Amino acid sequence: MSRILVIDDEETIRNAYQQVLSTEDPESGNLDFMANELFGEKEHEAQDEHHFELILASNGMDGVEQARKAAMEGHPFAIAFVDMRMPGIDGLETAQRLLAVDPHLEIVFVTAHTDRTRKEISRAIGKHRFFYLKKPFDPDELIQMAETLILRWKLVREQEKIEADKQMFIRNMSHELRHPLQVILGVCDTLINFDMEDARRRQFLRDIETEARRLQQLAENLQQLRTMNSPTFMTAKSTLDIVQLSDHVIRILSRKAEEKGLTLSRKGPDSGVVEGSEDSLTQVLINLIMNAIHYTESGGITVIFEEQHGLMKIAVKDTGIGISPTEQKAVFDKFYRVAESSKKVRGHGLGLSIVKEILTAHGTTIELQSEPGKGSTFSFMLPMASIRH
Ligand code: ADP
Repeated sequence: MSRILVIDDEETIRNAYQQVLSTEDPESGNLDFMANELFGEKEHEAQDEHHFELILASNGMDGVEQARKAAMEGHPFAIAFVDMRMPGIDGLETAQRLLAVDPHLEIVFVTAHTDRTRKEISRAIGKHRFFYLKKPFDPDELIQMAETLILRWKLVREQEKIEADKQMFIRNMSHELRHPLQVILGVCDTLINFDMEDARRRQFLRDIETEARRLQQLAENLQQLRTMNSPTFMTAKSTLDIVQLSDHVIRILSRKAEEKGLTLSRKGPDSGVVEGSEDSLTQVLINLIMNAIHYTESGGITVIFEEQHGLMKIAVKDTGIGISPTEQKAVFDKFYRVAESSKKVRGHGLGLSIVKEILTAHGTTIELQSEPGKGSTFSFMLPMASIRH
């Protein structure tokens, strides 16, 4: 819910804001009277379609404190309606301090008349940083202004997030490319400049091959992420037996598990027809089971199926190193790898973000339960096809 801060020293005005902007019912009919007093006899529309959370402050200092607290707690205000003339610090100084604690805040000066010129305000807080609302204000105008500014605030936030994600992606990509290329060039240099026996030369060529395969894997992962963001992704849905599909994946990966002395088995019903994209769900199972094999040193991996009220729950459970609670959300981010485990296993940190995007496209989510040193369980639900139709 979007948050609005109102700073005004007059209680009747604060109540009037509440009456117009808040979704909560006014405490008493008295507010209706006050709103009528302030806005005239105009009939007020039902306000329940607005989704604003309103916080009221009676002076500038209190308002700045509220904004500071809100920004620190990660629920910042989108807009501050600031009365220009107030005892203590006035509207202009309040706005300056508000922007110092939260530079993204949209500021609206509410004023009957002002002894501050527009130029003076522009100089103090920036030309595009503020709006005016003249008192007495019209409730519709107030709502419209709140809605428009909230939209603007949200769009700017989204734009910033896209830009930050882009920068992070480029940083991560160049890191992922640089390392294998350094190895390849280093090894080529040795091969070109030094004579050596065939066996040693072959070992060096194998090193080049390993790094080249890593780059190939990176390119494939990126291609998958790109496909998933295209509008046509997930058009190829069909009904499929997810249990049989997992048996197929288990067969393919059982050698990898055996090589590490791990068990890889399945539990639950022998069949479960769901609706989805076979290729994508195969990818989900491969990524989850491969991770379980990579990050488990002893014990094993169990793929567990469980029917729950028309849904099939699919869980990949391992007895591996586990993931600490503070990292359980981040492992689904692109390129994120747990520092400790990335020393032992080489990966790009894209597998789980691919899993997450595929499942989002299937209208479901991935859950993670994990305890460091004990193991991890990644699970998701899919609707069973027979119940749906
Ligand atoms: P990658 O395995 O290539 O690093 P992923 O996106 O698949 O990339 O996983 C991100 C990180 O999450 C891994 O680097 C690892 O630290 C952690 N992780 C994933 N699966 C498991 C698991 N089953 N057990 C412990 N840690 C895991």
